Amino acid sequence: MKPYRGRILWVDLTAGTCTNEEVPESVYRAYLGGLGLAATILYDRMPAGADPLGSDNILAFVSGLLTGAGSLFTGRWMAAAKSPLTGTWGDANCGGTLSPAIKQCGYDGIFVTGASDHPVYLYVDNHGPELRDATALWGKDTIETEAALKKLVAGNREPSVACIGPSGERLSLIAGISNDGGRMAARSGLGAVMGSKMLKAVVLSGSRPIGSEDPREMTRLSRSCAQHVTHGIPLPPGWAMPVLGAALRHLPTAVRMDGRLSIPMFRKWGTCGMDQASVEWGDTPVRNWSGSERDYHRKLSDAIDPDRILAREQRKYHCYSCPLGCGGICAWEGSEAHKPEYETIAAFSALLMCTDLDAVYAINDRLNRAGMDTISAGGTIAWAMEAWEKGVITSADTDGLELHWGDSAVVQRLVELMIAREGIGSLLADGSLQAARHFGHGSESFAIQAGGQEIAMHDPRLDPGYALHASVEPTPGRHTTGCQVYYDMYRLWTRVTGLPRPRLLSAKAGKYRADAAQAAIAVANSCFTQLYNGAGLCMFGAMLGVDNIPVFEWLNAATGWHMTPEEYMTAGRRIQTIRQLFNVREGIDLHSLTISPRAAGHPPLQRGANRGRSIPLTALMHDYWERIGWGADTGVPTAQTLRELGIEGNLIPSAAARGHASTSSE
Ligand code: SF4
Repeated sequence: MKPYRGRILWVDLTAGTCTNEEVPESVYRAYLGGLGLAATILYDRMPAGADPLGSDNILAFVSGLLTGAGSLFTGRWMAAAKSPLTGTWGDANCGGTLSPAIKQCGYDGIFVTGASDHPVYLYVDNHGPELRDATALWGKDTIETEAALKKLVAGNREPSVACIGPSGERLSLIAGISNDGGRMAARSGLGAVMGSKMLKAVVLSGSRPIGSEDPREMTRLSRSCAQHVTHGIPLPPGWAMPVLGAALRHLPTAVRMDGRLSIPMFRKWGTCGMDQASVEWGDTPVRNWSGSERDYHRKLSDAIDPDRILAREQRKYHCYSCPLGCGGICAWEGSEAHKPEYETIAAFSALLMCTDLDAVYAINDRLNRAGMDTISAGGTIAWAMEAWEKGVITSADTDGLELHWGDSAVVQRLVELMIAREGIGSLLADGSLQAARHFGHGSESFAIQAGGQEIAMHDPRLDPGYALHASVEPTPGRHTTGCQVYYDMYRLWTRVTGLPRPRLLSAKAGKYRADAAQAAIAVANSCFTQLYNGAGLCMFGAMLGVDNIPVFEWLNAATGWHMTPEEYMTAGRRIQTIRQLFNVREGIDLHSLTISPRAAGHPPLQRGANRGRSIPLTALMHDYWERIGWGADTGVPTAQTLRELGIEGNLIPSAAARGHASTSSE
């Protein structure tokens, strides 16, 4: 049994129809599944110049190739569409239960086009798809929506639900899509795409089995991999984490990171285990990227001691097929809420100079319920605070609110205004660059973003790989797509020929040089990221390193293919390239997606962990583009690369080949 269905669902919201389309095996071999499947279909089917909030935009919900095949850490689902925030290719991904639910309904992906003239939700079970009226759900937050839908369709099995909250309905350009009680596919503004189509939710309640070609081998591989998760080192108490961060800062050399060490930390604390240490190390941005650990010093960062955060956790949360369970469920306001992640805590503490942990919890819950990206929301409020400080915006713009650094009550008020799209919140709900363009006075220079998307809470001045990947990514501003430390952790050189092996200790200055090794590392990161996005693998699992997490072997055992690691990396390069082609076709100046100069150390910080550091971004981008086979000066994939990757022709036969229309409506 193949792990993929060979079938996708098309939903035309204008016509109110649902149609099946068969997908040939050649597509899976070339693009794997997940984001690769979405990339080839959207590139093939979306007209150039589509309005991101118009009916021509296609919104994809796709499952990973390995999801349900018996592998571990492979429950990620992905959303993709043209981003209304950046105007580029947009995607976001999340864990939870939605990825297997797509396949259990009999599909590898659901592609939504058109737009409804009233709120609807898509319901799919073993009997097929159906569009239903969602008028009564419009206006409800994500948690209320999910609960209401689960009650409404109650049957033998609990469905998986992806939905939007008020932010998506109000077309906030930083709105995301929620699933599993407030987990968010947050980036690229895809919640607004769903809102523009008046699609309130997707409810999946199928029960078809998912399998693999060689279940015995899948079990053997997974058992072996699980040992690396359960055998961990003892961890120090939370108060020692910033000491560790400071020690890394003081070390005279860079150290090759071993991702296996992060596994016990994720198991104990989740991603929040790194928050205080990252401030000390120089990874977390402070005061809208203008400060350092000297400003957000230990007395302030004590507020985000990981043990304080852990104290509120009631139970662990595992995504589908995950043996680690980095998530946590906390008691909050008489109910339950997801524990805030590293990014959210950093965005609403050090970035804004805030120290109120209760406020972070409250904001996390409010944004998850509204369906708004916490990274972009925090980054945009940081811009607003600096704009206030510099007099670009005044109390006349804020209805009397004074936006002082560290004032958590004001931050909470701004969050409410952004969700409601009231007052200045109406502008801030579309992100920092849109707001900066409105207010002008040079404030674009401190809207810290790439291509219009706020960058995540990892400082490129510590790891220049973040600056490079944020700038060359077809979805600009993404932190999960690569950095130097990820390369250390993925350990690709152990399985893929021709890749450089980083030294255990190396000169820190070497990180800031543009050379052939940096380009090779960055391109390998990109190819591997797209490979695992095709497979549906969680990046935290990937941090075990490919000599410990058998992703290549799982792929072969699940599909019956006999592809080499190099061939799988080529599939990743193919996915990356077709995403880039999408942007080229949109006529985007690829240089315009470059990260804000401040975050790249132009000018360099004068004090703190990253003082004096500047990143040669132009040279790094040139080398990356050349190495991956795109024009070194333009970023446009070359004709030779397209030939090599076989993406000149159309792998999907044609829209006319869509099988058996199963038209349905409310
Ligand atoms: S490590 Fe965390 S995010 Fe990744 S699959 Fe497991 S629970 Fe989900």
